[in-house]
Amino acid sequence: MNKEEQDIFRAETRAWLESNCPRSMREKVQEESDYYWGGKNGTFKNEDQKIWFERMLAKGWTVPYWHKKYGGGGLSAIENKILNEEMASLGCRKPLFSFGISMLGPALQKFATEEQKDKYLPEIVKGEIRWCQGYSEPNAGSDLAGLQCRADDMGDYFLVNGSKIWTSYGNKADWIFCLVRTDFGSKKQRGISFLLIDMATEGVSTRPIKLISGKSPFTETFFNNVRVPKENLVGELNMGWSIAKYLLTHERQMIGDMGKNDEQVKTHNIAIEHIGLQNGILADTILRTELAQHEMNEAIFEMTIERAIDEAKAGNNSGATSSLFKYYGTELNMERMELQLALSGNQELVMDNPANQNGLLANAMLRSKGNSIEGGTSEIQLNIIAKNILGLPNN
Ligand SMILES: Cc1cc2nc3c(=O)[nH]c(=O)nc-3n(C[C@H](O)[C@H](O)[C@H](O)COP(=O)(O)OP(=O)(O)OC[C@H]3O[C@@H](n4cnc5c(N)ncnc54)[C@H](O)[C@@H]3O)c2cc1C
Repeated sequence: MNKEEQDIFRAETRAWLESNCPRSMREKVQEESDYYWGGKNGTFKNEDQKIWFERMLAKGWTVPYWHKKYGGGGLSAIENKILNEEMASLGCRKPLFSFGISMLGPALQKFATEEQKDKYLPEIVKGEIRWCQGYSEPNAGSDLAGLQCRADDMGDYFLVNGSKIWTSYGNKADWIFCLVRTDFGSKKQRGISFLLIDMATEGVSTRPIKLISGKSPFTETFFNNVRVPKENLVGELNMGWSIAKYLLTHERQMIGDMGKNDEQVKTHNIAIEHIGLQNGILADTILRTELAQHEMNEAIFEMTIERAIDEAKAGNNSGATSSLFKYYGTELNMERMELQLALSGNQELVMDNPANQNGLLANAMLRSKGNSIEGGTSEIQLNIIAKNILGLPNN
């Protein structure tokens, strides 16, 4: 696509978004229900959310870069980038949030059979099935390969027994993609398989985990003699570790993306609103320095992402770059949230105050800490960067 074609695509995309994205779908997300997650029990918060989802789905733009045969938009990397940029500049919300899009889908495209792709990918694009992730166990988080949830081969089905923990939205999901142990004898990474399990199967249950905030975004998930059809195995038996790692690179990419500077204007506006300007510059010297440093960090992050994309295009990708972006993106997001709170003042720390939408900013700041844990902790990302990018010794 040459520059002229890109400009035409950009202009058409912008015009389409301007006339099709309802006003309220361009407002900043305030609460969980502002996201549409789909699924069998998925409900739209309002008519605008439904209209926006349906219009984007009709264009294949719930997952614009997936192949058209699965219902995606069939956009090239550059077209997808332009669409993202135009959506960001108009403030358009994503029409569908889903672990199917950001995590399972890429893994299925690489490892699943054609039958599995034809069955699961269109359901993800249409938001018909909500997926959750069954990786972590009480004694297998950072040491994920130590997982013990087991699937025994019973001839024409697997019998699954064990439990998972920290399953985000386990009580809302229809299906779970799950790592199970299918061989207890070999080296621990070699005895793991990747199974897709319908949460409605007899023997699957969840128990909410309540957080100090009173919210409960996680469950424990239990499998008690759960019969799983053989055709739900993705990839080869005992070879699920490669799929698990590949999926994690996509999860880390998604989490790291939170570091991108979509909120730059917001941080700037908060600074001007709460601190004010003196002779055209921010009145508080310390906060001005912190804001300037933060904006430089954001710019560096953006440029490094661009460079990595170009390097990947040239066939230069160590595979560990998702760890690099996950680590730095989450650090940057935490820095941003702390800064926005510091600029806004103490009143933002009051949690049950309608004037600050019940501590919206403070809650967002606390939630940003979780980003440095989910998808593999910051320490684990640093280990991967040390070993696979810097080439430091492995001990
Ligand atoms: C918001 C959120 C959502 C999540 N959603 C899901 C989900 O949907 N599905 C799912 O399966 N899991 C989910 N998790 C779980 C997450 O993947 C684990 O919490 C994470 O992998 C860490 O495992 P752990 O909690 O067992 O901590 P541990 O592994 O026990 O780690 C404890 C501490 O020790 C450090 N540590 C451990 N090993 C090393 C090492 N080798 N070198 C240096 N430091 C080390 C860690 O960095 C950490 O600080 C979620 C977690 C969070 C916070």
